[in-house]
Amino acid sequence: MLPEAAIMRTCPKCLLVNTDSAQRCDCGFPISQISAQVMEAELASAHRDALSRAVMGLVIGVGAIVVSVATLVLAGPGDQGVLFYGAIIAGLAMAGRGYSRMLDARQALAEARAVEKKRSSQEP
Ligand SMILES: [Zn+2]
Repeated sequence: MLPEAAIMRTCPKCLLVNTDSAQRCDCGFPISQISAQVMEAELASAHRDALSRAVMGLVIGVGAIVVSVATLVLAGPGDQGVLFYGAIIAGLAMAGRGYSRMLDARQALAEARAVEKKRSSQEP
């Protein structure tokens, strides 16, 4: 688990964990200027984006596999099927990146919420 300061410095845009003193993330996001609520909303939106990217990548990758198998099955004697390996690799890589980004966003969001909950329970 990250220390509290680092939790709030997880960039909601690129999910890079910034140092405590960072005013801006490497990607240009003004990390020191946003409230915990905005941070949560941004992380939730990053999570949604990553999820849809993972699903889209999976659809592309699996779709390309299905089409490739179909061309093999439907190929006549002596014909070769077409292996859409470019789309398969690109789709599955996209799904993998999206999935790993989704996990990062989910963790950062959970930690941001835990910090916010702790903070609000300390207020009188
Ligand atoms: Zn960033």
